[in-house]
Amino acid sequence: MNSFEVLLGFDMESDIGSWTPFHEGLRHGTPKVLDVFQKHSVTGTFYFVGLSAKEVPGSVHQVKEAGHEIGAHSLYHETVGDSIFPIPGVHPLLPHEVKPRLELNTRIIEEVCGVRPVSFRCPRLFGSTSVCNALEDLGYASDASYPMYRYLDRLEPYHPDARDWTKPGDLQLVQIPNFADLGIESSDEYGRDRDQWPKFRTESAESLLTHVDSFLAYVAAAGIKRKVLSFYFHPWEFHPMREGLIHFGEGAVYPDPFVVKNCGEYALEQFDQLLTGLAERGAQFKTAAEIASLTPKA
Ligand SMILES: [Zn+2]
Repeated sequence: MNSFEVLLGFDMESDIGSWTPFHEGLRHGTPKVLDVFQKHSVTGTFYFVGLSAKEVPGSVHQVKEAGHEIGAHSLYHETVGDSIFPIPGVHPLLPHEVKPRLELNTRIIEEVCGVRPVSFRCPRLFGSTSVCNALEDLGYASDASYPMYRYLDRLEPYHPDARDWTKPGDLQLVQIPNFADLGIESSDEYGRDRDQWPKFRTESAESLLTHVDSFLAYVAAAGIKRKVLSFYFHPWEFHPMREGLIHFGEGAVYPDPFVVKNCGEYALEQFDQLLTGLAERGAQFKTAAEIASLTPKA
């Protein structure tokens, strides 16, 4: 049996990320997800958007009381790092705005949670060198933003370089790459079809597990001894999301169909089966802070 570490990361944000101001998933999806964690006796890291933590503080307390790590996921689900692809209506922060935003986000989470977060994830895995440097200054232990599907090179947790976050270097911060199946060919202009997300929901746990096996074989062939699979999910995937146009304020948004496909009961069943499949393969479930503490400087 393989031995590998698994980070189950949840990005705790408004429904469909930046697409709506509602928090039905955070309110109603979170308790269901926590039940599945409890059933499998595993812990994970829950990265809260500052605005969402303020809006639904009970969710932060619920997650903390269940024994999981509370992390941060930006102030408003804005683009804090480098965009990989453009998003309608969402513009990247200016460089001088990055640190103050992350600082405010950190303070809000600390106020609501009672503990200062040490783990971070950028919305949409749009990380950057400025984000890593700001997190280092703010005393963070880890950032789980590196998308393997996009940058391809880093296959295990590493200390990033202060001049280029995608390269190993001297920061104390640990960067935890999010796995993608690099063993398959891509036909997407950004390589997104190799990413893990949202296959468990748009396809199935069984389908995602074939990519897990393919990834484990890929890193073994690359001669990497430490195998770490970082996953990302969202509470709104475990509550039915409306398909088609969503109207609020002064207009309506129409998220791409795959973004909201199968949210609710099906996603919950598949998540449960995914945890069973991972445990059968020898997974050791860890929080982001634990993975960071196990990552020595090269
Ligand atoms: Zn997010």
